[in-house]
Amino acid sequence: MTDREKTDSPISVVLGEDYPEIRAGVRAICAKYPGKYWRDLEDEDGYAEDFVNELSASGYLGALIPEEYGGSGLPIRAGGVILEEIHASGCSAGACHAQMYMMGTLLRHGSEEQKRRYLPKIATGDIRFQAFGVTEPTTGSDTTQLKTKAVRDGDYFIVNGQKLWTSRAHKSDLMMLLVRTTPIEDVKRRTDGLSVLLVDMKDAVGKGLTIRRLDTMINHQTNELFFDDLRVPAENLIGEAGQGFRYILDGMNAERILVAGESLGDARYFIERASKYAGERIVFGRPIGQNQGVQFPIARAYAEWKAADMITRAAAALFEAGAPCGEEANTAKLLASESAWHAGEACMQTFGGFAAAREYDIERKWRECRVAQIAPISTNLILAYIGQHVLGMPRSY
Ligand SMILES: Cc1cc2nc3c(=O)[nH]c(=O)nc-3n(C[C@H](O)[C@H](O)[C@H](O)COP(=O)(O)OP(=O)(O)OC[C@H]3O[C@@H](n4cnc5c(N)ncnc54)[C@H](O)[C@@H]3O)c2cc1C
Repeated sequence: MTDREKTDSPISVVLGEDYPEIRAGVRAICAKYPGKYWRDLEDEDGYAEDFVNELSASGYLGALIPEEYGGSGLPIRAGGVILEEIHASGCSAGACHAQMYMMGTLLRHGSEEQKRRYLPKIATGDIRFQAFGVTEPTTGSDTTQLKTKAVRDGDYFIVNGQKLWTSRAHKSDLMMLLVRTTPIEDVKRRTDGLSVLLVDMKDAVGKGLTIRRLDTMINHQTNELFFDDLRVPAENLIGEAGQGFRYILDGMNAERILVAGESLGDARYFIERASKYAGERIVFGRPIGQNQGVQFPIARAYAEWKAADMITRAAAALFEAGAPCGEEANTAKLLASESAWHAGEACMQTFGGFAAAREYDIERKWRECRVAQIAPISTNLILAYIGQHVLGMPRSY
């Protein structure tokens, strides 16, 4: 049965500016962090400490944590709205978004003791839960082939291997790490034998974990990690050993919906800036926006954003209703990331030479939004999901 057949029950979607108080609150914080703040961080390869601390203190980063663990217990749509407003304001949630994606794995599969130990402190910002170690240099998107292994030794797991692109690992107190605990040769299905460990970074760095910063085209604070006999307490295993791939997969729809929110915010940022500038900039005696060559790409980007916004709302509504939403969540991520890129292109072209001037922030946002087509999952893998799981075509891998 395809996802399409499973989603026949009526689900309602709210249109317009939902969560207006949250939007206004996030915008007010973002107004204190203008383009210069982000440009200076890029210059010094800095982490947005003040921004992240303020968002945590205001409760926005704990929005999805249930109230009993100190959060606001809001639905996934509220999380998407928070990330969207951050990006629409010209800021970047790259400094802190992982916490929202990863929360589901800890909430659904963590023990009560783990939840009580970590969630209230994550909600207040006392613990930063920002690092997610999945991708590896030699296996990339083929997650089940990952090589980092953890071997049980009494009350500990001994971890050896390497991760790549582990963003914010050096700024995080806690990392969610996917490792192989049963060799792939010994499992029936390649998805078996993987496990999720919570790594307390202060007990790990310099004691079996080495972090090397990566120099990238955007300030995403990303890293390469080397594990050399790192000892992780066995009590830090999430759920059952060997089930980790399923636990991570479980959180993927939430992740897709949340990152779609960021791209929707990027698209809004570009469309608002481009349409305003197109009306103001006079060349050849008239506003450049009067020329259809300038106007139409912005109008097209708006139409694409609108469609992406609708499917993202649908995906969130299905997710909240507990209905299957793989098709919608994947489509939302695909369309939102592409709409942001097309809006960015239109904005670059509209601003002409000024788009290249750093003080306009457009080139920064353009670089930042491009990554959404690659991470946390690339467009081809989303298309493969739709091709195989929605349309029933053969697997390519
Ligand atoms: C800025 C940044 C931050 C990141 N942060 C994190 C993080 O915090 N934690 C983490 O674990 N990872 C992180 N990543 C990694 C990211 O999730 C991966 O880059 C992404 O999943 C793609 O994997 P890869 O780079 O190994 O590409 P590959 O798997 O090598 O793929 C390369 C290209 O080939 C295509 N391809 C591969 N196989 C197929 C196929 N069967 N059919 C069609 N096309 C295919 C892919 O779509 C892609 O376009 C980050 C990456 C970036 C750039």
